[in-house]
Amino acid sequence: MHAAIELTQVSKRFPGAAEPAVREVSVAIAPGEIVALLGPSGCGKTTTLRLIAGFERPDTGAIAIAGRCVADGNGTFVPPERRGVGMVFQDYALFPHLSVADNIAFGLGHLSSAERRSRVDDLLALTGLEGVAHRYPHQLSGGQQQRVAIARALAPRPHVLLLDEPFSNLDTELRTQMRAEVRALLKATETTAILVTHDQQEAMTVADRVAVMLQGRVEQIDTPDVVYHFPATRAVARFVGQGTFVPARVAGDVAESDLGRFGLENPAGPQLVELLIRPRDVSLEEDSEGIAVITSRTFNGAEYTYLVQLPCGVQLLSNQPSHVDLAPGTRVRVRCNRSRLAAYDADARIGLT
Ligand code: ATP
Repeated sequence: MHAAIELTQVSKRFPGAAEPAVREVSVAIAPGEIVALLGPSGCGKTTTLRLIAGFERPDTGAIAIAGRCVADGNGTFVPPERRGVGMVFQDYALFPHLSVADNIAFGLGHLSSAERRSRVDDLLALTGLEGVAHRYPHQLSGGQQQRVAIARALAPRPHVLLLDEPFSNLDTELRTQMRAEVRALLKATETTAILVTHDQQEAMTVADRVAVMLQGRVEQIDTPDVVYHFPATRAVARFVGQGTFVPARVAGDVAESDLGRFGLENPAGPQLVELLIRPRDVSLEEDSEGIAVITSRTFNGAEYTYLVQLPCGVQLLSNQPSHVDLAPGTRVRVRCNRSRLAAYDADARIGLT
């Protein structure tokens, strides 16, 4: 089966810019899959989305939607309205003078009025908006406005839905609810979707796979779990989640560190590697012979976050349930979940045995 969307070595540099905004991006998205483009401001997420939508042209590389080439560096260019792409913007861009039902019907001019009515009814039901079909956008809550924007984008049955920071105008509580709701809606309608966000939690809760973009490149594309626990590069590890890098010295086929000794898959590597461990994967135990000392703790309600001084000089982050109550100054033994440990040489991840 064709990928729903396929980008092959897509690059884009804006006129006058020193660096490309998008560099050799290759991504294939399966039908029905939700992929998040996650990265810091300016990394090229929106430009990638605009290239797919047809608002920008790639300098090199190719973009295919549903198996059809829509843009390449050789002059192929299908305009946005003929790509079968639906868009949901941060500010929703609803038509203020049209009712909810008419907003949803907006892109359905090609259908008979009976078909149009039936499609609008389906979407009103799917998005739980039946009761407000005749209201105008200013008479809706933020969550309802977002549902209208999504219903309107889905109405013409696009090959793919592109969502650009769609949750950023919602307050925290509603945002959490809408993330789950939007994911359920996309799954129920088997919609292929790309979500642009700089929010890690959002990317991980909504998407099937997360593409981490840094400086115009997709550095890693994987399931949220793998991106979090096994970042492919140090740059991804630094951007995604909290964690501590602990230096390890390589001796033969083992790496020795303050977290313990670990076997290396490829012992011919460098002399120094770094081990990444997440705060949840470290446990602390009071032990007068322990090599580490608690330097601080903060209580966040559900748990304590500890900073622990290791002999190598690194301050280790550790999250512990609130019944583990260790005062600063306490000497501790540090245990880490070995299966959750990632190791890095100068940049890339290396295997541990
Ligand atoms: P944000 O989250 O802040 O929107 P982003 O990851 O979406 O960031 P882009 O908007 O894709 O990043 O921008 C990538 C780079 O391209 C930035 O350096 C930006 O300044 C530049 N850029 C974007 N659009 C244009 C344009 N039309 N002309 C020139 N440079 C642009």
